[in-house]
Amino acid sequence: MAYAYDPQNIFARILRGEIPNRTVMETAHTLAFADIHPQAPIHVLVIPKGPYVCADHFALAATDAEIVDFTRAIGRICADLGIQPGEGGQGFRTIANAGDAAAQEVPHYHVHILSGRPLGRMLQQPD
Ligand code: 5GP
Repeated sequence: MAYAYDPQNIFARILRGEIPNRTVMETAHTLAFADIHPQAPIHVLVIPKGPYVCADHFALAATDAEIVDFTRAIGRICADLGIQPGEGGQGFRTIANAGDAAAQEVPHYHVHILSGRPLGRMLQQPD
């Protein structure tokens, strides 16, 4: 795998407790916390505790236990927040940016969960 993980990235520092966060959920392999610059009334970041850079890295290199824990955590967070569209909630969007084309800012894999307002169409044209 060609990925080099930077242990000084901001989410690694959050995982080590060096920077505070507003935790939404913590499990054996996953941490979820509020985004510091929310782009919707609900904006949660879900990260694996392991050193994975982006979605494909995680999907190919993480253990089955990590992947199951992470995926179930996303489901439980959506249930806890009452945003599941199949359960009467308003729905949500998950986003995982990877690399330069997606303007990934923090090189530790994370899934954004956004909800609480109409989110528009999936992509906008770049300026
Ligand atoms: P990306 O562009 O990498 O997909 O998103 C990175 C996200 O991390 C951004 O939404 C940004 O607001 C958030 N973020 C950056 N630094 C911090 C921080 O120190 N704490 C928290 N809670 N969120 C952060």
